[in-house]
Amino acid sequence: MKVASLDLGRQYKNIREEINKAVLEVIASQSFILGSFVESFEYTIAQYCSVKHAIGVSSGTDALLLALMACNIQHGDEVITTPFTFFATAGSIARLGAVPVFVDIDPFTYNIEADKITPAISKKTKAILPVHLYGQCADMDAILGIAHTRGISVIEDAAQAIGALYKGKHAGSLGDTGCFSFYPTKNLGGYGDGGLVTTSNDALAGLVKTLRVHGAESRYYHSHIGINGRLDAIQAAVLSVKIKYLDIWSEKRRQVASYYTGHLKDLPLTLPRTASYNTHIFHQYVIATPKRDELKTYLEQHGIETAIYYPVPLHLQKCFEYLGYRRGDLPVSERAAQETLALPIFPEVMREEQDYVIRHIRDFFSKA
Ligand SMILES: *Cc1c(COP(=O)(O)O)cnc(C)c1O
Repeated sequence: MKVASLDLGRQYKNIREEINKAVLEVIASQSFILGSFVESFEYTIAQYCSVKHAIGVSSGTDALLLALMACNIQHGDEVITTPFTFFATAGSIARLGAVPVFVDIDPFTYNIEADKITPAISKKTKAILPVHLYGQCADMDAILGIAHTRGISVIEDAAQAIGALYKGKHAGSLGDTGCFSFYPTKNLGGYGDGGLVTTSNDALAGLVKTLRVHGAESRYYHSHIGINGRLDAIQAAVLSVKIKYLDIWSEKRRQVASYYTGHLKDLPLTLPRTASYNTHIFHQYVIATPKRDELKTYLEQHGIETAIYYPVPLHLQKCFEYLGYRRGDLPVSERAAQETLALPIFPEVMREEQDYVIRHIRDFFSKA
């Protein structure tokens, strides 16, 4: 048996007619850039997340970049974030000439540890950029408390957390802005690149809208130096179909996760833990063991695909050498990079596939 870590073909099979119709409608309209398909999707997402504004952009990376630009992050400013995330989180900070300041993570949620943020704040700190990793939110009340007494912005990297709830409130509605990705493998994935910025702040929304069209408030009149950062209409049409199913898919992911947990909990493994304030959407189901590499190889030999998110924490990446971090500086992140492993999870994963994965993990530990 072969078990893929993700099979998007199964999802497409279930919604093929609707998707094809939506894409052909865009082509028939010949309206590819912004326009009514994008506006209608933005309205849907704003309602879904309970925010005033949703602005469709070209990718999750550009959502981060535009949110940071709208918050006026400039050369030399410091932005506090986590090193245990996808590169784009810190890459977008550094691209503006700002300085990513890495704070270690909580060993159970893998999200930035709020208690460690205060000592990292300096006069140059302009923003905190928490990531809702694997589909559960960071400790937002603590983070917002630290930020708002000091006039610091909070930008949520919610790329992995669309539909996740923190104390009943949607990821992306908690900070000053929220950033989403519609990369195809995300829980709400497009058929190409796409992203979105959420905010309930009118001024920030206006800035993001301007910045995504080269900083033009009206065409050819540029008040800011922006980027080409628009969501395209075909992606918006695909996403408008898919969002109707998102909550059902999230519920299925939670069921898959709880089945894994129920059948693995007696093994010498660290299983995912959901913080009491969170509703998790299980973008990933991530286990941890010091025998991670051996386990990964063993599963691979039996046709089971797993993934490592992420093998090198960002403070140890070559391109960030200039920041001056050393191995040992952020030990919880470094350990997570060595011990974590993501098991196959998606709404359409079948019970027999899960049983096969569970059986082989159990075999591995019985032989060890
Ligand atoms: C996917 C992802 C991004 C980047 O999104 P893209 O759409 O690929 O540019 C940023 N941050 C996190 C945490 C992600 O998982």
